[in-house]
Amino acid sequence: MSARVLAGPPAAAALLADAAARAGRLPTSPHLVIVCVGDDPASRSYVRGKSRKAGEVGLRSTVHALPESATQAELLALIDTLNRDDDVSGILVQLPLPAQIAEAAVLHAIDPRKDVDGFHPLNVGELWAGRPALTPCTPAGIMYLLEHYGVAVAGARAVIVGRSHLVGRPLAALLLLGDATVTVCHSRTRDLGRVTREAELLVAAAGSPGLVTPEMVRPGATVIDVGINRVLGADGKGHLVGDVHPDVAGVAGALTPVPGGVGPMTVAQLLANTVRAAELQHATRAHP
Ligand code: NDP
Repeated sequence: MSARVLAGPPAAAALLADAAARAGRLPTSPHLVIVCVGDDPASRSYVRGKSRKAGEVGLRSTVHALPESATQAELLALIDTLNRDDDVSGILVQLPLPAQIAEAAVLHAIDPRKDVDGFHPLNVGELWAGRPALTPCTPAGIMYLLEHYGVAVAGARAVIVGRSHLVGRPLAALLLLGDATVTVCHSRTRDLGRVTREAELLVAAAGSPGLVTPEMVRPGATVIDVGINRVLGADGKGHLVGDVHPDVAGVAGALTPVPGGVGPMTVAQLLANTVRAAELQHATRAHP
């Protein structure tokens, strides 16, 4: 038996089509501003991908590239300008930032209504209070993917491996909101396999290649592989692999591939969040 493949691109296309339709109902096209500091090649490539996708679905995007030597004060001044600009719907600061800039200070400075990454403490708090407004892109994208493929969340026994602020924690909040019974594992979890074997819905977000092996998976479970790990293959070339061992396909009922699973959902959700941010701002202007 081989697991059903939950491919990201068709689900991402549906999410983008929905976002584009909602954007079309707004008076002006939503505008995403991406701020990057320094010239990390991976960050630059992510930023190009996000801008290209924005254009494809009819959103406007602008990239502000600051030099590696930029100070925290300079970055905060730019964010302040963007916060005040009514023509800016969403602000994304590409992470990681150079050492001289405190990430928390920057993320806290973004207007929560423009916080398309969902990292501002107000948005984190709203999510855990059960009133999600702008939620982190990867977990929200995973929820959309599950819905797209008709994977039942309500009542399901869900186990997440990883407790980062980027993936594991916000996903736990979203799955709880979806009425799953949620367990979050991490590097100090004892007997990880015993816990993961209980999962009807297993999410691997640890950043550890092949961590989840077949004996850790309950037969028929839905397995979401969030991991993106670059490893050297037998051919001497770099390959992208997930946190889930390929042999899990023989045990799981459904599985997301890497690449081409959760990755496309993350970018699509960023644009959906930009439209959501524009909707929130439009509603506030119409009914202040
Ligand atoms: P972090 O390094 O921030 O967090 C990893 C988490 O996994 C931590 O909570 C850590 O535990 C836990 N963990 C690590 N190793 C083990 C282990 N052996 N057993 C149990 N728990 C473990 O990573 P991120 O959440 O940022 O990213 C996770 C992965 O997802 C990475 O591969 C990343 O590249 C990928 N990713 C993919 C995205 C996509 O769009 N597909 C988007 C974002 C991330 P502890 O807290 O105890 O240290």
